[in-house]
Amino acid sequence: MVHVEPAHLVELALRNTPPTDDDAEALRHVERCDRCRDELRMMTRVVTAARSAELEDMAAAPPELVWQRITQGLSRESAARRCAGAG
Ligand SMILES: [Zn+2]
Repeated sequence: MVHVEPAHLVELALRNTPPTDDDAEALRHVERCDRCRDELRMMTRVVTAARSAELEDMAAAPPELVWQRITQGLSRESAARRCAGAG
């Protein structure tokens, strides 16, 4: 079984973009796969914590690479918001 890449799970947790066919396929896998479901849940918690700046509540810091993806995603979000405000 091919698992969903952690980077893709982060994208799913961020939900910045409309779902693509790839996302739909990944979500179908997540539904059937305990491991990916757990990972997506973890990513979602990290993203939620990052958005609400409650990182001190986290039991453990996420892996560096995962964290980079999340911070990139969050800065894309605020950039998108700025663009929307300017337009
Ligand atoms: Zn999996």
